[in-house]
Amino acid sequence: MFPRPLYFTNVTVLSETGPIGHSLRVKGRRVAAIDTPPEKRDVVIDGQGGLLTPGLINAHDHLELNTFKRLKYRETYTHSLQWIEDIEARFETDTDLIEPRQQPLADQLFIGALKNLLSGVTTVCHHNPLHRPLRSHYPIRVVKSYGFSHSLFRGDDPAASYRQTRPADPWIIHLAEGIDETAGQEFDRLEQLGLVRSNTVLVHGVGLTAQQRHSLIERGGGLIWCPGSNQFMFGRTAQVAELAAAGRLALGSDSRLSGEFDLLTELRVASNTNQLSPQALFRTVTVDAARLLHLSQSGAGRLEVGGPADLVLLPPTDGDPFASLGRLTRAQVGLVLLAGQPLVGAEALRPAFDAAKVAWRRVSVDGVSKLMSRGLIKRLQRSRVGEPGLVVLS
Ligand SMILES: [Zn+2]
Repeated sequence: MFPRPLYFTNVTVLSETGPIGHSLRVKGRRVAAIDTPPEKRDVVIDGQGGLLTPGLINAHDHLELNTFKRLKYRETYTHSLQWIEDIEARFETDTDLIEPRQQPLADQLFIGALKNLLSGVTTVCHHNPLHRPLRSHYPIRVVKSYGFSHSLFRGDDPAASYRQTRPADPWIIHLAEGIDETAGQEFDRLEQLGLVRSNTVLVHGVGLTAQQRHSLIERGGGLIWCPGSNQFMFGRTAQVAELAAAGRLALGSDSRLSGEFDLLTELRVASNTNQLSPQALFRTVTVDAARLLHLSQSGAGRLEVGGPADLVLLPPTDGDPFASLGRLTRAQVGLVLLAGQPLVGAEALRPAFDAAKVAWRRVSVDGVSKLMSRGLIKRLQRSRVGEPGLVVLS
């Protein structure tokens, strides 16, 4: 039997401008219609008043570093280089570092995908080389065309790395990840190198001055904000309101080694800084993230007819629909659909799995029973590493 189209009814379809409809039809890998009546072969899915949003974009992660605990060795740091030195000094002595470093890379990367999918992320930007397991059959979309440098201090020479990056691709670098004088001077050094351009995307920017943020906006560059990781290391984070107003801000979870547990926790931390309105925050994980990562043409971060059927069903909410994003946990995510395929969802969403011909099994996510695609479960069972809070039930 062929898969049948999915027709979500009794939902609020949410785009970056606000609600745009109350039903959505998915055919194959794409959104086929918004707010039209169902067609004959459609399987009607009752969304029970929930919100249907684009699959979220996590603009910054290190996908192989999510099997580590969150680690630090001082109460606070003034620059991330100190944190990196503390970590590297313990590679051979601290079991929290020794054990994860012995895990197979493919398993580490799979857990990175699961972390993101369970939290409603369907596209993630990985900061490191595009390892082989990320290139094909990886269960979540990863940004494939990008250039990157670790920072001004480590990794490839930034100028050479920038030159090797196509102008049509984003070039991404950790910058001003600190609160000391060094961090305050990094942007000026990047400018002297001629590397603050329209495809330059900085990560962190905690130490940026107001003037530097202004220059970044003027040049058409952008910032990926990771407030959870920043607060963990420095007890403070970047000032991002003007960048968000200019549409030049995206949100990233960073890896679990320094960041929050997942993008939903990160959204809560971001929301609690009170720097952005709920709607502005929504843009940082949808359309604005897509723009910074040069994904807009693919339709990522939007729900529109003809666009990819990457979407998330969230619980009903009173009042401002955007505000719910800053309060959610992954157990509350109703359904994650990637290219029209249900990957994880509430038990009540079983008709969506069946209509799409996706075999499923029951799992518990943080104590809540859900369905997960058999493909993901098989891969999980081959993995030598587990995902905290995720248990296969049947
Ligand atoms: Zn990072």
